[in-house]
Amino acid sequence: MIIILKPEIDPAGSEVQQILNSLHYYQGIQTRISGVTGKERKVLEIYVIGDTSRIPDEEIERLPGVERVVRVSKKYRLIGRHRDDLEGLRFEYNGLVFDQDSFHIFAGLCAVDRPENVEAMFKALAQYGISTSRMGAYKPRTNPYSFQGHGRKCLPWLFELAGKYGIKCIAMEVTKEVHIEEIYEELERAGRPTGVMLQIGTRNAQNFELLKAVGSQVEFPVLYKRGMGITLEESLNACEYIASEGNRNIIFCLRGVKTNLGDPHRNLVDFAHVPVVKGLTRLPVCVDPTHSVGRRSKAPDGIEEIFHIAAQGVISGANAILVEFHPRPQEALCDGPQALTLEELPHFLEDMRLVRETYLARKALAQKYGSLKESEVLRGMPLSSACAL
Ligand code: PEP
Ligand code: MN
Repeated sequence: MIIILKPEIDPAGSEVQQILNSLHYYQGIQTRISGVTGKERKVLEIYVIGDTSRIPDEEIERLPGVERVVRVSKKYRLIGRHRDDLEGLRFEYNGLVFDQDSFHIFAGLCAVDRPENVEAMFKALAQYGISTSRMGAYKPRTNPYSFQGHGRKCLPWLFELAGKYGIKCIAMEVTKEVHIEEIYEELERAGRPTGVMLQIGTRNAQNFELLKAVGSQVEFPVLYKRGMGITLEESLNACEYIASEGNRNIIFCLRGVKTNLGDPHRNLVDFAHVPVVKGLTRLPVCVDPTHSVGRRSKAPDGIEEIFHIAAQGVISGANAILVEFHPRPQEALCDGPQALTLEELPHFLEDMRLVRETYLARKALAQKYGSLKESEVLRGMPLSSACAL
């Protein structure tokens, strides 16, 4: 059950206290207050957890300060797209806007290694006007003897270099709660020269304690990567976990799913789900072509497979790309064989700009056809010219 409060209500005021007292009269009920800033106004809500079947809606709706009571019978109550809840979940972070219309490219190293490599990456991004990157400091690895990331100790110089090159947001995976604290403390210590988006890796897609940890803080947005071996519904429910803890600044990232049917790619590319996730939820959707494809390899047309696959996501309306680059892939401590090189960066960016523009043109085309009456479509040129293609 969710209780939506009237806009002027003070969370620390007497009305909220009276509502909480009425709810706690029912045994086993837990409550949590959450504030959400939408485009139009700030919404204050009380989430009621437990067996709420005995609580009469009308009684709660009569209390001062209550706007309405919503029963959570719908899937993905907070992140979902519902009839009475169509506004996208837009958020701003460190001067960047994220929603289902925005477009960002998070390009960078899989794992932070040497300052020279990180600096070369940031410098190249700055040269092409990109202020979003990816850098792994905490790496969950399949093999216990593989490099596990430099952890906290690389954060001071990493953040300083990011600030030097105007990087505003770094996507960085966290694998346990204490990593959030470490990132927060090191950013503060460095004087906040940059920002961080907390990445939940596919291996932690159903680590509910970690999901609750990133959800119960609102300092950092969250980039959630779809679980590689679970259903889409289970991954979306995991995002609902994050949102239900209070943080709705979430980007949903498709990264391929595990099945040998995708061979020789590392994972079966699931970018056909971009419009599906945009329809089921109000979250911005990211695609990760690197971990889907898993190798640097040129197709016979001269285009890198990773470019091709990224383009498939972008042309379907993806709002972000998470992609691995490395100035010296042969030196990379993790995922070198799938990293693009800095020489390929301008080509990649230009290619992605091209498909993004084509997506926007496709969207405008759909609007044009959507507003035409059926008779006008039948009479018009577009159909016959389409046949000529
Ligand atoms: C990553 O982005 O570095 C990563 C490990 O991705 P995934 O969790 O999708 O495997
Ligand atoms: Mn990687």
